[in-house]
Amino acid sequence: MAFIPYGRQQINHDDIAAVVRVLESECLTQGPIVPQFEAAVAEICGPSVEAVAVNSATSALHLACLALGVGPGDTVWTSPITFVASANCALYCGASIDFVDIDIETGNMSISALEQKLATAKHHGLLPKVLIPVHYSGRACNMLRIHALAKEYGFKVIEDASHAIGAFYEDSALPVGSGCYSDITVFSFHPVKIITSGEGGMATSQNKQLIKRLRRLRTHGIAQCPEDDRIETEGPWQYQQIELGFNYRMTDIHAALGLSQTKKLHEFIARRRCIAESYNKTLAALNIACPLPSSYSAWHIYPIQVEKSERLSIFKKMRAADIGVQVHYYPVHLQPYYRRLGFTPGCFPEAEKYYAGVFSIPAYPALTAEDQGRVVSTLEDLVGRRPI
Ligand SMILES: *Cc1c(COP(=O)(O)O)cnc(C)c1O
Repeated sequence: MAFIPYGRQQINHDDIAAVVRVLESECLTQGPIVPQFEAAVAEICGPSVEAVAVNSATSALHLACLALGVGPGDTVWTSPITFVASANCALYCGASIDFVDIDIETGNMSISALEQKLATAKHHGLLPKVLIPVHYSGRACNMLRIHALAKEYGFKVIEDASHAIGAFYEDSALPVGSGCYSDITVFSFHPVKIITSGEGGMATSQNKQLIKRLRRLRTHGIAQCPEDDRIETEGPWQYQQIELGFNYRMTDIHAALGLSQTKKLHEFIARRRCIAESYNKTLAALNIACPLPSSYSAWHIYPIQVEKSERLSIFKKMRAADIGVQVHYYPVHLQPYYRRLGFTPGCFPEAEKYYAGVFSIPAYPALTAEDQGRVVSTLEDLVGRRPI
């Protein structure tokens, strides 16, 4: 029996042909395809949105923090149940990081924990400069509430939507990335995510000043349109570095794959939803807690909960049965590096409780009904049915 991974890319001939066309062209990078990929992602997100492509979501998070002015002396808050990049970006800027505990029902940042933490922080004059909610598993956080809190307390918002391109906000049905509730939204195109460019990321925003800053920071801090910046140049040869930026550019080779994949986004999401719905039905009878149903989530992962005392043994047996389960996530604040910053077990009890019983089972567009059946029957053998 073949190994079933927890997630994987789906690449077809048209994706390959698109990449080959770039390889045969003049421009391997900084050609016409990156702007086309940016326009395609902006269109997925909605009107008035602009997008800036970079070489990873990690780079996009870093630039988003810089564009919002995060620096030494500032604090950024994110969720502890995420990939480390959601927190590392603040530290790259010399800022401090803190976390807001999660809602165990969704794995997303808890709005009530956020409200409490903001009230306390305000009292002590320690409000965050930026909040980074993470749309865990592809399910959007309650951005209406987060947006209202951002206005009330005066912080900026970066949505880490690495799991959530193609998802919609539950209460407005607007696409994630529309920029209605936040300053900047970040997507990842790593192969395990919803659509891929090999490596790659994108930042979207409705704010033209932020977009301009992101573009400049992506390429060394060099002015992209000297006319806009009212810079006198000494001749057509001159480029002007305005601030300290990076080379975080995406190549046209990667953008060609990403652009080709955007055409299949809706099909991929529909498949992921079908898989999630089918799991929700077939797993309901087992000794497992399934994620809440959602027709708005992008279903990047399908995380289930088992008895904490049995998680390790079930996980190992699933792997032994060639089923590539994975844990999303080991709480960021418990990583050795973050413990050295002073975080300890017990800091975010809901996140730790969530982590203790969770693992993700295979869910990706190319997962066959047969393989999905094998996942379910293997689980059934291991956890058993609920007593009736
Ligand atoms: C994958 C991921 C990232 C980082 O994405 P890269 O493109 O690999 O840099 C950041 N945040 C979350 C929540 C992710 O899942």
